[in-house]
Amino acid sequence: MTKTVEIYDTTLRDGTQQEGISLTPKDKLAICRLLDNLGVAYIEGGWPGANPKEDDFFARARDELDLSTAKLVAFGSTRHKGITAEDDEQVNNLLEAKTDTVCLVGKTWDYHVEHALRTSLDEAVAMVADTVAFFRSEGREVFFDAEHFFDGYRSNPDFAVAVLQAAHDAGAARLVMCDTNGGFLDHEVERIVGEVTERVSDGTFGCHFHNDSGMAVGNSLTAVRNGVYQVQGCVNGYGERTGNADLCTVIPNLSLKMGYETIPEDNLGRLTHISHNVADVINLTLDPHLPYVGSSAFTHKAGLHTSALARRPDAYEHLAPSAVGNRTRVVVSELAGRSTVLAKAKETGLELTDEQAQDVVDTIKEKEHLGFQYETADGSFELLAREASGWTQSFFTLESYRVFVERRDGDVVAEATVKVLVDSERIVSTREGDGPVSALDRALRAALRDRYPQVDGIKLTDYRVRDLDSSDGTSARVRVLTEHADAETSWGSVGVHQDIIDASWTAVSEGLVMGLVRNAERA
Ligand SMILES: [Zn+2]
Repeated sequence: MTKTVEIYDTTLRDGTQQEGISLTPKDKLAICRLLDNLGVAYIEGGWPGANPKEDDFFARARDELDLSTAKLVAFGSTRHKGITAEDDEQVNNLLEAKTDTVCLVGKTWDYHVEHALRTSLDEAVAMVADTVAFFRSEGREVFFDAEHFFDGYRSNPDFAVAVLQAAHDAGAARLVMCDTNGGFLDHEVERIVGEVTERVSDGTFGCHFHNDSGMAVGNSLTAVRNGVYQVQGCVNGYGERTGNADLCTVIPNLSLKMGYETIPEDNLGRLTHISHNVADVINLTLDPHLPYVGSSAFTHKAGLHTSALARRPDAYEHLAPSAVGNRTRVVVSELAGRSTVLAKAKETGLELTDEQAQDVVDTIKEKEHLGFQYETADGSFELLAREASGWTQSFFTLESYRVFVERRDGDVVAEATVKVLVDSERIVSTREGDGPVSALDRALRAALRDRYPQVDGIKLTDYRVRDLDSSDGTSARVRVLTEHADAETSWGSVGVHQDIIDASWTAVSEGLVMGLVRNAERA
């Protein structure tokens, strides 16, 4: 029988504690749909009553969300000291969210009970037991998040266990051991989880780890090996400080390496896509070095390595990237040999001869010496590889460009004129922009638009400039890296020159050419 681990996502509640993350109800609904598509068991939606946005989200979730596998959970605290659960305003807010499942957080560290709650240990136990019992009497499934559980167990194990036992006796379906400060290491987790699961022998346990010691994923796996059934965490490891356990690492580790069923097996291939989509909704650039789902997770650079990789991928990759929906990438650099160039060209559908590949290697070495860099400029690389195979771009020929920049009444206005030949027709176009690069970009697009209306579907999505040191007494150069995208894909290009405008021209015009190439290939 396959062992199962229940995946509980808290991206929308704990994940949004990360600085820089602020989600609208609409964003949250979009993320719920993505998580449901991934197939997690539970989605913690937020803290009802915390602010009007949270209540709006739960109201809209009831009307608009039609989840197929996941269940939505509302999160809240146990009752305050000295009153009944029925009379507690925040308990009622939580009830009003009308979710089938609620997750209650309560204190299990005596130090917090004494100094934060300022009440007796007996009252702290009662606060948990009463609130769990109240939600059970309202027909809700109840999970209990034992806040600071590991610190609490270290300080006063009998009290920490008494709280869990009380939650369990009152009807909590999961007893979730939280490392709220995130400082525990796996050997301690192993011991504590082992002891607790024995002491509350008929409980069903969960875990919730923060990554302050870099151990959140590892501790989650250790907890599972010692009897924990539910793992809480966030997509891409979002969360306060150093983040929560990254579900995009936890899930494949459990499913593909430890033999547990987590999300439905057929959905594992969606992991990379969902991770990137959630990052898009949250509007944060995804860390390329994230395990499994990062764009660099299966990227190879060294030359020797890549030639062997082409023959035996399993010798250099810990698992097939397709298992999690990612792919192998080869980046070219002066370190690379012919085999890297051949592999990279093949990725874009180009078959080069050994001789042509050697020409590309030689050109790259020369250009990298000048400051070009092809690791992210895959579009410029592809143009080089195509040229080595005898291809020339026939979309346009540049006759000349010029740019004026004028400061007028405190505003800067740039004007660019581009003269090109398109199918032997000479086209002169002039456009303004709020800077010289945007003016040039607009003028070139205007010149091409009649013949190639598809230029409007090619967007310039990123533009970066870097000063390069002048080491040999020549004047300093700048490197411009751009990224373009159309509805299907994205690509990078690079330009280097002493003059920033000319470096920009190279990068921007190559990006546009590459877009036209991709478009023509699909047509
Ligand atoms: Zn947390």
